[in-house]
Amino acid sequence: MNIPFNKPFLTGKETTYIEHAVKNGKISGNGVFTQKCHSFFEQQFQFKKVLLTTSCTDALEMAAILLDIQAGDEVIMPSYTFVSTANAFVLRGAKIIFADSSPQNPNIDITKIESLITNKTKAIVVVHYAGIACDMDVIMDIAGKYGLFVVEDAAQAIDSFYKGKALGSIGHLGTFSFHETKNIISGEGGMLVINDERFIQRAEIIWEKGTNRSAFWRGEIDKYDWVDIGSSFLPSEIIAAFLYAQLEQLAKIQAKRQVLWDKYYEQLKPLQELGLIKLPYIPSYATNNAHLFYIICRSVTERKKLISFLQSKNINAVFHYLALHKSPYYIDKHKSNKLNYTEIYASSLLRLPMYYDLEIEQVEQISKLITLFYKQ
Ligand SMILES: *Cc1c(COP(=O)(O)O)cnc(C)c1O
Repeated sequence: MNIPFNKPFLTGKETTYIEHAVKNGKISGNGVFTQKCHSFFEQQFQFKKVLLTTSCTDALEMAAILLDIQAGDEVIMPSYTFVSTANAFVLRGAKIIFADSSPQNPNIDITKIESLITNKTKAIVVVHYAGIACDMDVIMDIAGKYGLFVVEDAAQAIDSFYKGKALGSIGHLGTFSFHETKNIISGEGGMLVINDERFIQRAEIIWEKGTNRSAFWRGEIDKYDWVDIGSSFLPSEIIAAFLYAQLEQLAKIQAKRQVLWDKYYEQLKPLQELGLIKLPYIPSYATNNAHLFYIICRSVTERKKLISFLQSKNINAVFHYLALHKSPYYIDKHKSNKLNYTEIYASSLLRLPMYYDLEIEQVEQISKLITLFYKQ
């Protein structure tokens, strides 16, 4: 038995649709499959406007351009996140103000945001860690009070909801990832969601290298020009075709992941009751999209031992983010505030294998081994 941490799931239709895209004779971006994906997302999740991108990193970079982030502007975000959440804004010259995570789960601690706001603050970027919603009403209220923009890094949060609203549809902008480690994949891939109408027209221009080519394609203008800054953010039809095959199976993929997630929770709950580990916390306002299953160990040493123990049984469990405020690139730029919970998650959070093809019996086996580790 060899259980990897992740294994990309294929529905079987991916190569068929790629073949269709090739036969359509248009394999660059913004063709039939891109439109199909756009319509799917806009209908399924009530996103006002979406644009596929080649990664969530790209979508975040588009967000930073759209919000007109300038050198010296401050952007508040959690330190416990992926590099791109911060890097996209650093590329525009922003100073990142890192906030601590909540004691309940790795999401930004909403009680810490307001004290970090200055007259240079331009935006708050929240990350729905493990696909579990941040408390968006509170965050949108704070943003409204100080005139700030909100970007939801919903890279892990496809098909997850906050009080009935799809994650990614609440902030001014939202970003998603279809990297092969996420629930719905296209190898590399992503999407920008534009919920504030003021940004829609400019988003299309930035997406198409700073030109108004999208309007030209629709026949709204008779030639296209260089009208703004931008880049090549749109994916080819080959990627969109792959993604569309996945979207058709969204419900099936999510249902299976949910079963696996619930099994882990049920099996590991006794260890939480004994105070040996902590399991994911899902607030009543949030749904669970079963993006990942994690446990919190009591120390970095214990986590290291558990990783080796599972590895000796050919099970690959992995830790997650290192704190960005302590990264080689940012440590000297970070304000001196200590981020206690960020450090706890960085040193003690462990992700267990989670992918569509994982079997329920394997979840039981993994859980039994973890129980054995803690009982010995
Ligand atoms: C995966 C991930 C990203 C990056 O996504 P890419 O599509 O690989 O660029 C950004 N933020 C978070 C929170 C992620 O989980």
